[in-house]
Amino acid sequence: MPDTTDCYYMGSSTRPLFCFGVIADVQYADIPDGHSFVGVPRYYRHSFQILQRAVRKWNQSQKLMFAMNFGDIVDGKCPRGQSLTAVEKVVGEFEKFNGPVYHMIGNHCLYNLPRDKLLPLLKIPHVDGHAYYDFSPTSDFRIVVLDGYDISAIGWHRDDPRTLEALQFLQEKNPNSDKNSPEGLVGLERRYLMFNGAVGRKQLEWLDSTLRDGTKLKQKVIVCCHIPLDPGASSKEALLWNYDEVMNVIHRYNCVKACLAGHDHQGRYSVDSHGIHHRSFEAALECPPGTDAFGYIEVYDDKLLLLGTDQMQSTEMCFNP
Ligand SMILES: [Zn+2]
Repeated sequence: MPDTTDCYYMGSSTRPLFCFGVIADVQYADIPDGHSFVGVPRYYRHSFQILQRAVRKWNQSQKLMFAMNFGDIVDGKCPRGQSLTAVEKVVGEFEKFNGPVYHMIGNHCLYNLPRDKLLPLLKIPHVDGHAYYDFSPTSDFRIVVLDGYDISAIGWHRDDPRTLEALQFLQEKNPNSDKNSPEGLVGLERRYLMFNGAVGRKQLEWLDSTLRDGTKLKQKVIVCCHIPLDPGASSKEALLWNYDEVMNVIHRYNCVKACLAGHDHQGRYSVDSHGIHHRSFEAALECPPGTDAFGYIEVYDDKLLLLGTDQMQSTEMCFNP
């Protein structure tokens, strides 16, 4: 049985312990509007305006401790030669926020810049090119950021063992010549696409020791990853290749209360068999001009309350304190 407790929507009378801003999939590019592979309209220039409105609102609220960007800040269609200036423009907008901004990398970030250029620009603490890290906003909470492109055919050098491992994996799992095509793949196998990736062995061990440490300190943990970790909060095509291995590690402990993600674009929410909340955010990129998708999360002892703006749905996620 899920260990969620009943609570009443926005009914908390206590003050949040802390709050943080959230936005996903800005995918800015200085190009005309277009469509996704499946025909969903995309507004590459307007999404930057959404980010501007998000930062303005976050600053006005004066109660956010930090902000989190869930990845894909510049679209893969950004003309080659403009990638660096586009990434710098988006990062510059994030830096107008009056507080720290924690980034995670997405596939579109990696189409534009290799890791050695991208991670310093995003100020992601990194060792050997990896983009996973954690921090504790208060002594009771820990945020864990996963690198979903640890094993990936994008972002690492062509000859890197992680690229080769990913290409071999895709060769075995996806018979299509275009490895971004799920044609013929059935059910959850449809996640074996080149624009997804996996969490590698070393990172899984790091996650395990981080959650063990969090448990020892009686911390509650929020896991963030560009790629969703639960089939209930993702299309089959947008899931992490080894979401099951990652969730097996998470399910060994009781400290993780929620997993937050981008990448899926549509905006979904689920509670898994262990009572962990999964929320994939609505993409800024797919908001028609004049509409918005960003928000902030109020963190309480017994729940997270996502307060979304416009297209981003508000979600109350309750758990045992
Ligand atoms: Zn993505």
